[in-house]
Amino acid sequence: MSTVAPGPTESEPVVPVAGESLARKCLRCGLAYAPGKSTSALRLTYCSFLCELGHLGFSITGLEHMERVPKAEVPADEG
Ligand SMILES: [Zn+2]
Repeated sequence: MSTVAPGPTESEPVVPVAGESLARKCLRCGLAYAPGKSTSALRLTYCSFLCELGHLGFSITGLEHMERVPKAEVPADEG
């Protein structure tokens, strides 16, 4: 005796996400821009590096490359 249970084969239609990669609106200057051409690290938020820098006060790229500057050890002045 074999019990073969054919499962339900419901195929959901794939709905493409609309308005994802066409154009974005810059959070700072409000201009519509193409994310692919944005020079900002947050290209989905700002139209350019300058808007990112101007709005945040710093740049994400700058943070990534930021390094701790070693303090120069100043020897105690003896004598
Ligand atoms: Zn902008």
